[in-house]
Amino acid sequence: MEFRDLKHQYQLHKGEIDTAIQSVLNNADFINGSKVGQLETELSQYVGVKNCITCANGTDALQLALMTWNIGKGDVVFVPDFTFFSSGEVVSLVGATPVFVDIDEDTYNISPKSLEKAIEYIVKNTDLKPQVIVAVDLFGQPADFSQIRKIADKYNLFILEDAAQGFGGKIGEKKACSFGDIATTSFFPAKPLGCYGDGGAVFTNNDEWAGLLRSYCVHGKGQDKYDNVRIGMNSRLDTLQAAVLLVKMKFFDDEITKCNQIAEEYTRCLKDIVKVPIVRDGMYSSWAQYTICFQNNTQRENAIEILREKGIPSAVYYRKPMHMQEAFGEYKFTELDYMITEETCSCCLSLPMHAYLNITDIEYISNIVKLIL
Ligand SMILES: *Cc1c(COP(=O)(O)O)cnc(C)c1O
Repeated sequence: MEFRDLKHQYQLHKGEIDTAIQSVLNNADFINGSKVGQLETELSQYVGVKNCITCANGTDALQLALMTWNIGKGDVVFVPDFTFFSSGEVVSLVGATPVFVDIDEDTYNISPKSLEKAIEYIVKNTDLKPQVIVAVDLFGQPADFSQIRKIADKYNLFILEDAAQGFGGKIGEKKACSFGDIATTSFFPAKPLGCYGDGGAVFTNNDEWAGLLRSYCVHGKGQDKYDNVRIGMNSRLDTLQAAVLLVKMKFFDDEITKCNQIAEEYTRCLKDIVKVPIVRDGMYSSWAQYTICFQNNTQRENAIEILREKGIPSAVYYRKPMHMQEAFGEYKFTELDYMITEETCSCCLSLPMHAYLNITDIEYISNIVKLIL
């Protein structure tokens, strides 16, 4: 069994994917080929946001957004304590201060209540300037943007939506990547919409920021890349990756629909024995992960071992809260607490999740989890 079955997906669509890749080889337009522009148009239509700027990966996408807002020394960026390292890494990389925020125990997304507490703390106790909220759509479910928007308006902050795991998710009919002032995603192979290497994209309705993003991702270009008006990055999406993504866009929604059926089945089998993920009313998840929680760490570690013996891969997203990562060693806001994150890190386990699992697989996995308990 595969944790995310990319081999099966390729075999199903091999003809079309091979043809798309071959056409890039024939045209030899590896950088800035026409398929890159075509993909940006399709992605922006899909999400319902005016501008899409593709780039080299989801981490660069986040950094490009912070550079566009000129975030740096003395600025604070609020980041959920339970996320992939990138969401906080880019904040330190541009010289700003990440302040980590505890999560909601049902959705694992940033807790609006803890967020407001953290903002108040920074305002009252430091000279730092709150500037940005990074709201991560963790495991596929959009963050609580109605609450987060209220807080952003109250304190005059930007929202940066990190939808690396959330692409394809929705609140009502509004798609993920349309909730932030700037939103980003990743096309890393294991993400909901994955390419065959690294890739990412940035979305915004603001044309001025879109112009800056296009400049920052190509060496701070002015008229062209040999006219350099600011210090930027070299962060582009390859034409080959764009070609693969254009094919995958065609069946992307069908895959997400299937993942939702699989998640429902998992929940039906597991809800009485472990803590299952909760998707809030009006939210639609793209199911980057299906993550359960055991009662304690011993039970979780035991489950990993037994599942492995039975040939079932599982993964711990995430083992360590952001505020405890060695790289944020100077982390100094010890007055803020992270109870939910700490508990989740010690008990969570992500099970196989992809569109090619069937009901029998899910019953098999669920029965093993039942036996373990
Ligand atoms: C994967 C991921 C990223 C980074 O994406 P890359 O393309 O690997 O750089 C950022 N944030 C979150 C929440 C992610 O899961």
